[in-house]
Amino acid sequence: MKSNQGFILNKKWNVNAKHALYRSDGTWYHVLVDFPGAYFDDHGYLLFNTEEEYRSSKYFNVTKEVGISRGISKIPGYVRIIPDNSDFLQNELLLAIHQEVDSGGSPVFTKQQLIDKGLDIFVPDSTKKQFMSEEILSSTLNEVKYRKIIAPLANNFYLLIDRPVDVDKSDLSDEAIDVAITLHKLTIGNVPTSDEQVLTRRRHGQSRLRMLTLNNYGHRCAFCDVDDDSLLVASHVVRWADDPIARGDLSNIICLCRFHDPLFEQGYICLTDDCQIETISSSNKTVSTNLALITGFRSPKQFPPLPEYLRRHRQRNRQNAT
Ligand SMILES: [Zn+2]
Repeated sequence: MKSNQGFILNKKWNVNAKHALYRSDGTWYHVLVDFPGAYFDDHGYLLFNTEEEYRSSKYFNVTKEVGISRGISKIPGYVRIIPDNSDFLQNELLLAIHQEVDSGGSPVFTKQQLIDKGLDIFVPDSTKKQFMSEEILSSTLNEVKYRKIIAPLANNFYLLIDRPVDVDKSDLSDEAIDVAITLHKLTIGNVPTSDEQVLTRRRHGQSRLRMLTLNNYGHRCAFCDVDDDSLLVASHVVRWADDPIARGDLSNIICLCRFHDPLFEQGYICLTDDCQIETISSSNKTVSTNLALITGFRSPKQFPPLPEYLRRHRQRNRQNAT
């Protein structure tokens, strides 16, 4: 495979070496035996016209193998074919991603869509544009990924996350919605609508929020032992209508049973900043029975309730009480 790649690049870049060896990062090779011979990496090559020139190089020693710790690209004579993954490439790529997302209306895109846009303009090779641009794209996409601008999804899809992901605006997969939720990027239901398509997308977002909430709390009410999914709801600490930003935030959502959800909603149950339970006593037998069933607050795996949200929940219910 590796020698095959050397063969391909040797032909593609018209190097005409009799022996061509390839290593992605250019740091380690077998010994060249035919000359002219050349070492290739992802961006260029180093050609040796004669064996003497090769063996007398002061930049590496030819033993059973050849190790070049800084890579062949640092050795004089290296010919760069493909530009480095510079800021320029990343900016070009981001621009293309934004254009693609804006024109298609979905924050999900594939590498192929970017290639189809003609992103290979900055590839000097004109005979096999696509092959080369895929190489550059892949490595550049990987670099951008670490800048938290895009998130990889399954099957070579990517999600743009340098802006909020609005579930109302496009049909998203479960996976894309889940990634957006866990990265605190999901917005949902920001604009009132009666459009059935938008409402369907919104319900999809809500059902993913519920599923992630149930998973987060181990499919159990955070206050009692109810563990039947059909009796569990995703209960918002700061109410749905009161804060659009907090709607998709898992640290604003607690998994509760259908018995404790309304008691929490109505302020019979509150949580302190550090999730200690405070209840209001009731003279009603059913209410007090349900309050008595509370065994404590069960902490979630991730995204515990944010003190800020709990404070607002307490404030709202104290106002209601007075
Ligand atoms: Zn419960």
